[in-house]
Amino acid sequence: MAAGHVAIVPSPGLGHLIPLTELAKRLFVHHNFTVTFFIPNDGTNLTLQKKLLEALPETISSTFLPPINLDDVPPESMMETKIALTLTRSLSAIRDSVKALAESTRLVALVVDVFGLEAFDVANELNLLPYLFFPSTAMGLWLVFELPKLDETTTCEYRDLPEPVRLPGCVPLHGKDFVEILKDRSNVAYKAFLRIGKRYKSAAGIMINSFADVEPGAFKAFKEHRQSHGLPPVYPIGPVIKTGSASGLGENECLSWLDDQPIGSVLFVSFGTGGTLTSEQMNELALGLEMSGVRFLWVTRSPNETSKDAAFFGVQSSTDPLRFLPQGFWERTKEVGLVVTSWAPQVQILSHGSTGGFLTHCGWNSTVESIVHGVPLIAWPLYAEQKMNSVLLAEDLKVAWRVKVNDKGIVEREEIAKYAKGLIEGDEGKLLKKKMIELKEASQVALSQDGSSTKSLAEVAQIWKGHKN
Ligand code: UDP
Repeated sequence: MAAGHVAIVPSPGLGHLIPLTELAKRLFVHHNFTVTFFIPNDGTNLTLQKKLLEALPETISSTFLPPINLDDVPPESMMETKIALTLTRSLSAIRDSVKALAESTRLVALVVDVFGLEAFDVANELNLLPYLFFPSTAMGLWLVFELPKLDETTTCEYRDLPEPVRLPGCVPLHGKDFVEILKDRSNVAYKAFLRIGKRYKSAAGIMINSFADVEPGAFKAFKEHRQSHGLPPVYPIGPVIKTGSASGLGENECLSWLDDQPIGSVLFVSFGTGGTLTSEQMNELALGLEMSGVRFLWVTRSPNETSKDAAFFGVQSSTDPLRFLPQGFWERTKEVGLVVTSWAPQVQILSHGSTGGFLTHCGWNSTVESIVHGVPLIAWPLYAEQKMNSVLLAEDLKVAWRVKVNDKGIVEREEIAKYAKGLIEGDEGKLLKKKMIELKEASQVALSQDGSSTKSLAEVAQIWKGHKN
């Protein structure tokens, strides 16, 4: 008999759905829960989401909620505003769906992630345990907890703060590296997040996709300050990463190309599900890769001149990105490089022996996937909390170099060539690799039978099993 039923409401975006589907698998495989996803959406670009959900075991079902309308939202609005609105406008559908489920099963918990906190009202009405899955770092979670205080005690934009902020147990963090949604305090997105963030403390517990050895100081601080800060229990349950193939897109081409390359020789280049570069930057990246002479596998997207997350609400490029590569690039690099468009089987690429490094936008899923496979990084943060992640990776864990951006906001080709060559061929790269292997080993311990993350999730499962008994 199942241990109980759990409802999960993900925030829009594949980067949110991917770790939650893996969490659902663990809840089923290790703790015998059945799970239902209720997916808020605006009706567009759901192909990859559907593929991901269809591949799940039968005990994990999913329902797409009625698409909400975002036509009134100005196109230049922050991506986070659209995410938050999608959830707010789906609330009554969430309420109806979760209520119907609670009437027909032994529903014990409602799990939301970053932006879904308003759904806790539904959990409280139906006597479900309200849990948050935080798909990022302990440092990021500390920033959410400390935000109301920062908001009250400072007036300038955070990027203008004269000193770095010292979040409990974390590496010092400059305001310019804060999560993107905090960059403009007059923006509606900032205000919405401040409001949502204040509700984090009302969770019965917070599961986080990190593990003790990645951020020992921050996790220790959660325990020490729990009483004084009125925090819910925080459970590090990571790394939670994608297993199996999600899409089938680009799989054969990438993996068979990698099979033909020498061990550890390839730099994988990708900016996640949503990242885009300007055409000037794309050109510079292409020429930098070429200049390095290093083998590369690059997932390209059509450039965008105004937004760094232009592909977030749909990862497929609308125009052919290859058109934007420098003239002759393809011919000149075909012996050492593979360029694929829009999507690649990232986890399989990171686990392939030929992959020696990853130039990444530092999305947290990409980061934990790199840790699990021991792949050192070049950190090229673009949006969301990626700058914060790059600070942790480059300055604290020392498993990454962070790219330098010039006065015009461009990472120059010479820099790119230097990083690529240094990571794949240089002795400095070997030091990063060594540190990454240590983290990989620590992650294996955390997920072993008696490991810290395994125990954390078991603790949560135990609480859920006892609810309503
Ligand atoms: N991903 C992938 N192939 C791609 C791009 C992304 O498999 O071509 C997966 C990647 O493995 C990761 C997720 O999509 O699991 C991206 O999440 P992340 O947090 O790194 O970045 P986001 O896209 O949310 O910014």
